[in-house]
Amino acid sequence: MNTDTKQALSTKVGRRSFLKMAGLAGAFGATSAFATAGVTRAATDEEVKNPFPGSKKVRTICTACSVGCGITAEVQDGVWVRQEVAQDHPISNGGHCCKGADMIDMVRSEVRLKHPMVKEGGKWKRISWDTAYERISSKLKSIRDKDGPDATIFLGSAKMSTEQAYYFRKFAAMYGTNNIDHQARI
Ligand code: SF4
Repeated sequence: MNTDTKQALSTKVGRRSFLKMAGLAGAFGATSAFATAGVTRAATDEEVKNPFPGSKKVRTICTACSVGCGITAEVQDGVWVRQEVAQDHPISNGGHCCKGADMIDMVRSEVRLKHPMVKEGGKWKRISWDTAYERISSKLKSIRDKDGPDATIFLGSAKMSTEQAYYFRKFAAMYGTNNIDHQARI
């Protein structure tokens, strides 16, 4: 694996995926379809130990609920590249639930939704933020005008941070309803 390829992989995949890929490259060697002349090689012990050289560790917390479990985030060139549990955190003591365990995927997952999408004619298509806001606000307004605000329910996400949950609650109240809950309760 040349330096550019390694760099590209290192910035896109988590540690476990990187180790798996490094293991695969080593196991398949020259017979692998990946092993196009000189493109792949087994990762060195040093690379397996730290695929993100020069990164720095930042102590932070998981934002997905008010427990605030400790995370040690690893940052390389301003990009969050890896996470570990903070073993010495006084609340979580090195434990995480499944939401906290992949908190890094909130920003790095390749399947993360990055743009508003709408399904039309059975197909998903990207729309602008302005169009999305316009469609959502007119729909909400027409429901409230016709049937009143209690014809809706606002359902929060388990991946919302505590601060986002606060805004979401305020938004429902301003819209005029107390019909708001958290998805974990259903
Ligand atoms: S890891 Fe789980 S329990 Fe801990 S703060 Fe995050 S969501 Fe809450």
